[in-house]
Amino acid sequence: MGEKKILVVEDEEKISDLVKAYLEKEGFSVKVANTGQNAISSVKEGFDLIILDLMLPDMDGEDICETIREDSDIPIIMLTAKSEEEDRVKGLGIGADDYVVKPFSPRELVARVKALLRRVQGKKEKSSFNRGNLVIDSSRYEVVKHGEAIVLTSTEFKLLQCLANSPGQVFSRLQLVNVILGYDFEGYDRTIDAHIKNIRHKIEDDPKESQYIKTVYGVGYRFIGQPDED
Ligand code: CA
Repeated sequence: MGEKKILVVEDEEKISDLVKAYLEKEGFSVKVANTGQNAISSVKEGFDLIILDLMLPDMDGEDICETIREDSDIPIIMLTAKSEEEDRVKGLGIGADDYVVKPFSPRELVARVKALLRRVQGKKEKSSFNRGNLVIDSSRYEVVKHGEAIVLTSTEFKLLQCLANSPGQVFSRLQLVNVILGYDFEGYDRTIDAHIKNIRHKIEDDPKESQYIKTVYGVGYRFIGQPDED
């Protein structure tokens, strides 16, 4: 994964400087556009994500968003200054993927950027493991094992997708329950174990000799499939 390029559209230099500095510190490459026109002409340069202020001198963030959406589904995080704007962004579905209300902490914004990039990548990506033996197609919610489509429940799919998006990383059962439910609940350990057992039966050749999902005793699970080169 190369360096991600982010376009920051913001007319207030103080804010754009701050956002730029924080993003660059995290390894992103950043370009700032301070007008709507500038933003629209810059989009063609190809960015991975746009941070778009709703209030700009020459154009409304909504219009910019609409114009960009005409020929791009690039992830957009909208910056809004007040709660009425927040309502506008939420209510009108103007095509932003997420929004952050000013004043915001740059750290939080960076976290949102990363989360959105992960989300988008997970959505688009077709990932292949162990020399094509296992293919996870997130856009179609489909898993193909040895060339044959296998059916996972949506919970099983989400768990597998989460694990496989970060090969090698250990996930606790609590983290995994959060992935499938969005919140924690009691008695999760056995629920997760049951789902993992089902996934293994579906994707492993021999569930006892796991090639994909490894149990980390006392903690949780991690994905050990080898990602194939593109
Ligand atoms: Ca502004």
